[in-house]
Amino acid sequence: MKNIIVSGATGQTGSYMCEHLLEDEDNFVIATTRRTSQAILGNLKKCIGNPRFKMIDMDLCDPHSIREVIKNELPDYFLNFGASAFVPDSWKSPALCMQVNTISLIHILEAIKDYAPKCKVYSSGSSEQWGNVEYSPQDENHPHKPRSIYGVSKSASEMVSKVYRESYDISVYHAICYNHESPRRQKHYVTRKITNEVARIKSEFDSGRGAIKKINPLKIGNILAKRDWSHAKDFAKGIWNLVNNGDANKRYVFSNNSVYSVKEFIEICFEKIGISLQWWLPTENRYLNNEELEKLSEKDLVNIQAVDKAMNILVEIDPQFFRPAEVSLLHGDSSLARKELGWRPEYSFEDLVNEMMENDLKSYE
Ligand code: GDP
Repeated sequence: MKNIIVSGATGQTGSYMCEHLLEDEDNFVIATTRRTSQAILGNLKKCIGNPRFKMIDMDLCDPHSIREVIKNELPDYFLNFGASAFVPDSWKSPALCMQVNTISLIHILEAIKDYAPKCKVYSSGSSEQWGNVEYSPQDENHPHKPRSIYGVSKSASEMVSKVYRESYDISVYHAICYNHESPRRQKHYVTRKITNEVARIKSEFDSGRGAIKKINPLKIGNILAKRDWSHAKDFAKGIWNLVNNGDANKRYVFSNNSVYSVKEFIEICFEKIGISLQWWLPTENRYLNNEELEKLSEKDLVNIQAVDKAMNILVEIDPQFFRPAEVSLLHGDSSLARKELGWRPEYSFEDLVNEMMENDLKSYE
């Protein structure tokens, strides 16, 4: 049996990882959770009850609990998905972000060094390490240029990993993960926010609200930001492949290699409920075309709305969702992972949006 610790197991990617690992009879999965995150055990419902699955308490901010878990469980793998992962939070609580994402990795690696030096460790990296990118698509050679403390925490974690590899010969893997989503994504991330809100708007139309009262619009931030979105399940499989077949000294990028703007994501989701959106500038009483939209600064974006044919306002730009420093474009090039690990995403961007929309539409039925 392989003893595999998965931290952050109640979250999106951690929970898909637990499910993937349990498909192999030789794996025993130890999911660590914080007592305070027990409320979202829903993501683990396919795992709970499996005799090769157990849950234990561990808090990444508590080095003592990390040491105890590693000393008692003597893991063969430690897959760390626990993180402060919402980028805007890292402006609100920058030191906490470093604590959870970087300092905790030091505690994990110190305990691994002392009690389980042969254990393979995975520490999640992020395309936020690239920040204001120098070229597109970005491959594993892109320099660190983070624009948020979240990005800094991930770049620092990559360097921490390197130090433990070189100093103590611990196999620590660090992949650059582009945005990864699913129906398990929390609703403050832009994709899930959009799919959930579009489903809510459909239910308001279906209940006849549009005919009597104004529909509550989706309120969103910078619609011109562009991202490379994949399904989190594909990344869980890729990461397990990486720690078994990859080279710990190499950086691997996981991405779909396709790029869409937040605006396009919104338009596609509205199309799925039969609404074709147009972007409207009320101060000038006219529609804007794509070319005009692309040129708008955040200051000007605040003035536009998206409307349907009947001029219902369905999307408004709300500056509270703008960031102190935006990363405008992230577009991955995962050629190395595809070539060396034989990894391929099973979900296209279209498949991902369909699954997320179907899930949210069902929740409003
Ligand atoms: P991130 O790429 O890891 O920060 O993932 P998010 O889903 O939080 O944000 C992706 C992009 O969507 C960023 O460029 C955001 O600025 C942009 N965005 C636009 N409107 C919103 C919004 O209302 N909420 C969030 N979370 N992001 C938004």
